[in-house]
Amino acid sequence: MDSQTIVAPMTPAGVSAVAAIRVSGSRVREVVRLLFGEAALKNLKAREAKLATARDYRTMADGDRATAQVIDSLLYIFFEGPNSYTGEDVLELYPHGNPIIVRELIQVIKSVEGVRLAEPGEYTRRAFLNGRMDLVQAESVADVIHSANRDELKNAHRLLGGALSKKVKTLTEQVMDISARLELDVDFAEEEADPDYATWGTKIEAIRESVESILKSFKGKAAVSRLPLAVLYGAPNAGKSSLVNALLGEDRILVSDIPGTTRDFVEVRLFLDGGEIRLVDTAGIADKATDALDALSMEKSREILAEADMKILLVDGSTGSPTLPEQSFSTDSSASFSPNSSASFSTDSSASFSTAGRESLKFLGDNKPDLIVYSKSDLLDEFGRSADLSEVTACAEQCRSELAEVPANAVLRISSKTGAGLADLKRVMNATLFKKTENSEDLWITSEREKACLEEALAGIDRTLSLIRTNPAVELIAFEMQLVRRALQSITGEISSEDVLQKIFAGFCIGK
Ligand code: GDP
Repeated sequence: MDSQTIVAPMTPAGVSAVAAIRVSGSRVREVVRLLFGEAALKNLKAREAKLATARDYRTMADGDRATAQVIDSLLYIFFEGPNSYTGEDVLELYPHGNPIIVRELIQVIKSVEGVRLAEPGEYTRRAFLNGRMDLVQAESVADVIHSANRDELKNAHRLLGGALSKKVKTLTEQVMDISARLELDVDFAEEEADPDYATWGTKIEAIRESVESILKSFKGKAAVSRLPLAVLYGAPNAGKSSLVNALLGEDRILVSDIPGTTRDFVEVRLFLDGGEIRLVDTAGIADKATDALDALSMEKSREILAEADMKILLVDGSTGSPTLPEQSFSTDSSASFSPNSSASFSTDSSASFSTAGRESLKFLGDNKPDLIVYSKSDLLDEFGRSADLSEVTACAEQCRSELAEVPANAVLRISSKTGAGLADLKRVMNATLFKKTENSEDLWITSEREKACLEEALAGIDRTLSLIRTNPAVELIAFEMQLVRRALQSITGEISSEDVLQKIFAGFCIGK
C-alpha cells in the first residue's frame, strides 16, 4: 500500500452549516501540528473533540504562529490507528460549510509533505487492506450511502454488519474441510479403500443449496434503487399543483386558477416514511386537446401514467355540491375556461360530482387509478356542508362503481389549503409504494461482483457433483473444490487482485 497520507472532503461541495474533511495516514500528527500548533499536538488525545483555530502555517512570520492567517475556527477529532475507520491515524475536521474555507483547508493540508488528495473510495479501500472490514462490507458502505428506502438501508446495514460475510465464511470452511479430506485421500489413495463419495455428495449438495439461495437473493442495484413513482392526474384545475405543493410543504410549483397552467408534467421528490419517491404532476387532462401543445402534453401524461407504481386521480371536490355558489369556490376566470372540462365547474344541479373524474377516465382508457382523491374539502366545510356529504359520497360511489378495480376504501378527501386529509394521503401512498416484499426480512446481495463469484462457485460445485457421479478420480474432485474455495474466498476479499479493488473503489465517492 502506498504510504502517502490522504485528504478529502467528506461532505458535498456547496454551502452548508458545517462541512467535514478527513485526513488519513502517517502524517496526520504533523498536520495537527501545522494547523493548530505544537501545544495542540502535545495535548492530542484520541477520540476527543477539540475546538481550535486552524491557521495557514505557510503565512507565518518569524516563527510566530499568531501571525499566520486564520482559516477557520473549527472542531476536530483525532483517531489513533488502528482504532480508526481506515486503521491508520485519522484526523477529522468540521469547519464551517463555506466552500472557500473547505478549499483553503484542503490546500493547506495538501501542502504538508507526504500528503495528497484521496482518490474515490480510498479511505474504505485502506480500511479493507488494513483488515478493518472485508470486501463485502466495503462494498456495502456504498449501499449504505445510496440506499433509496428503508428496506434497502436495512439490508445494507446487515451487509455492513457482516451478515453475508459470516454465511460465506461458513461455506468456505465447509469446502475447505471437504478439500482437506479429499487431499488426504489423494495422498493415501493406494492404501485406503474407496473414498466415501456418498457422504461427500450429500455435503456438497448442502453447500450448493446455500450458494444458490444467496445467488437467488441478488437484486441489481438499479432495480433496487429505482424510486417508486406516483403520478397525479385529473381535470385541469382539480388542484393537482396545489396538492404537490402542500405535500412538499413549499410553493414549488406555479399555482394558478386558469385551467391548464401546468402544461407539461412536473416531477418532485417526496419523502414518505418508507423512503423517497418520485411524484409527478401531469398536465391537466381534458377529454379533447385544445391545441397541439395540449395534445403533446396529454400524450406525455399517458406515457408517464403507464410507468406509474401508483396512479392518483384528483377530482375537484368543491364542485360536488351543485348548489354552492360558483364564485365561492372558484374565481370568475376559472368558470369561463375551455368548454372541455366545464362540467367540473358546473352549477347545474344535474351535473354529476364526478363528471370530471369520469372524463379523465374515459381519456385514460386502461389507466385506472389506484386512489381517488377529492380536493378542496375546505370549500365544502366553509359553507357548512361538511355534515352534508351524502351527495359527495353518493357521487364517489358512482365514480367508483365504474372502477371495479379500485378498492372501496381507495377514496380520500383532502384540502391543500388547510392540510386536512394530507396525513392520510401520505399514509396510503406509503403503504402502496413501499409494499413489504416477500423476502424483506432476508438478506439480499446487490453486488454484480459478488454474484459473479457465487456463479463461479456454483459452476465448480456442479462440476464436482457430476465428477462424483461419473468419474470419481479424487484428484479431479479435489481440484474442482479448490476452485470453489477460491471463488468463495474472493467474495469476502480473502483472495483479491489489484484489478478487482480498482473496479470496486472507483465507483465510490471522494472522501469515503
Ligand atoms: P391543477 O390545474 O389541477 O394543478 O390545479 P391548481 O392546483 O392550479 O388549483 C386550481 C385552483 O384551485 C387554484 O385557484 C387553487 O388555489 C385552488 N385550490 C386548489 N386546492 C385547493 C384547496 O384545497 N382549497 C381551496 N379552497 N382551493 C384550492
